[in-house]
Amino acid sequence: MYYFDKFIKSVTDSLFPVRCAMCKRDEFLLCPNCEKLLKTNSNTLPDKTYAKYSYKDLTTKNILFKLKYKHHKNLSEVMGKYSSDFVKENIINKYNLQNKNYILVPIPLSSRRLKERGYNQAELISCGIDRERTLNILTRYKDTHRLKDAKNIDERHLELANSFDINKEELYEYLNKNNTDLNNLYVILIDDITTTGATFYKCKNLLQGHGFDDNKIFCFALAH
Ligand SMILES: [Zn+2]
Repeated sequence: MYYFDKFIKSVTDSLFPVRCAMCKRDEFLLCPNCEKLLKTNSNTLPDKTYAKYSYKDLTTKNILFKLKYKHHKNLSEVMGKYSSDFVKENIINKYNLQNKNYILVPIPLSSRRLKERGYNQAELISCGIDRERTLNILTRYKDTHRLKDAKNIDERHLELANSFDINKEELYEYLNKNNTDLNNLYVILIDDITTTGATFYKCKNLLQGHGFDDNKIFCFALAH
């Protein structure tokens, strides 16, 4: 089996060689040197929301475009890995979550869009940060248009209304397994980009409406 796996890997490697998305050097999807060139976000975001990179930076924009629309699936997880220290420092350590029950909840795609794209980039980013704690307790049953297509912020808020729901089965299975309840559960919502914060806001509201403690909900996006 070991040799067979190695054989498969060598075939896929030669068909789809791993190259840095920026400098095209071999072996990295995004090499550490290029990652350092990405501009970090310097804006303070409201409501316990954090973003690592700046979306105003063209390179960051390019990388995010690739992982979202160009099927650079594995790049999402790599970006998540590059963000794990940031999340640890700005959320987990800062709010002393180390010994608490906390989960990473990716902002979901609708099943239609998931089928089209084949993966949810937010879920892969989340897995890159911490696979063990990634839990899909949200579902989405309505697509929103791409942000650039929405005419204004109000329109986007309107579009997001009633788009999400809780995956109760997944949630209660987790609570039972970890012998805990909603009052003691911390949530970090994960997305690729946050602009107006409307999506995070909507999901936070939904969680609150289901009994989650607002003070225990945090948000992380790769870029703002
Ligand atoms: Zn590179």
